[in-house]
Amino acid sequence: MKQPSLTIVVPCYNEEEVFPTTLRQLKNTVTRLIKEGYVDRNSKILFVDDGSRDSTWDLIKKAYTEDSMINGLKLSRNFGHQRALMAGLEEASRYSDCVISIDADLQDDISVIKEFVIKYLEGYDVVYGVRKRRETDSFFKRTTAQMFYRLMEKMGLPLVYNHADYRLLSRRALNALLQYKEANLFLRGIVPLLGFKSAKVYYDRKERAAGESKYPLPKMLALALDGITSFSVKPIRLITAIGFISSLISFLAAVYVLVQKISADPVGGWASIMISLWFIGGLLLISIGLIGEYVGKIYEEVKGRPRYILEERLQHFSQEYKRPK
Ligand code: UDP
Ligand code: MG
Repeated sequence: MKQPSLTIVVPCYNEEEVFPTTLRQLKNTVTRLIKEGYVDRNSKILFVDDGSRDSTWDLIKKAYTEDSMINGLKLSRNFGHQRALMAGLEEASRYSDCVISIDADLQDDISVIKEFVIKYLEGYDVVYGVRKRRETDSFFKRTTAQMFYRLMEKMGLPLVYNHADYRLLSRRALNALLQYKEANLFLRGIVPLLGFKSAKVYYDRKERAAGESKYPLPKMLALALDGITSFSVKPIRLITAIGFISSLISFLAAVYVLVQKISADPVGGWASIMISLWFIGGLLLISIGLIGEYVGKIYEEVKGRPRYILEERLQHFSQEYKRPK
């Protein structure tokens, strides 16, 4: 049987500090897999530079010229992790039988890459990397992440618990994924929707090898909100439900006010009016904001803008490579 060709896709944003380590370790891993006969000699590592402002792209170029295992893509600006990853996946789908996506910081244990490939050879189309422990993440990151998974579960989304974007996809699964054209990408939410036979591989999440997190809190919140509003209309239903309840309450309040008006001092009740005024005001603003979020999503999808723009492609051609249209 012919071995499958593997591509490891690595999105990089300002990763000059960690790049040399990552490059070395991934190269070792792929070389070993080739030697042991798990994957084809044409296997690649594809670095996607997501508009870095540091020397990341120069490092990728240098690696490309020195080694035929290395390919590179440069996006025209910073498009964000999910889109950079998508760019890499799309590129790799042109010449690889299976693709593994991994972060540049090596927080995800690369020693399980072999297990990914073994699962693929056993016939799984999707292999999820799942974190066993997250002790190296801060308490804050751990709890917020946990809350997020819980929330997504409540929203009826089949997210894989403690799985980020460390996974293997077969070409079949990749081609299915590429049919999802939405501008707002949340891969973790889409991949379980693809179907196919899937497996999980467990590993320990480590400290970042170097450099700092490119996912500060605001970006994390944005990803969470994107994840929720891209997949579920439940928040809007919630608003409707709250609206019904508050109408019911205000109806009861109206009865109470009428009784008061007939029986007691009409100036009383100032406090309750103020409280309900602010309460309802707040509720309305949140609701409008949430609906605005969906309208914005629709707006973005309707425009149908490209998800990313390529500036440069560094490609060692293999025989199987299909040139993009
Ligand atoms: N990343 C990217 N574009 C961005 C932000 C991050 O391509 O705008 C990459 C980054 O280089 C890394 C991965 O996405 O390879 C995950 O980022 P990071 O490790 O900073 O996130 P964390 O692990 O802290 O959630
Ligand atoms: Mg990281």
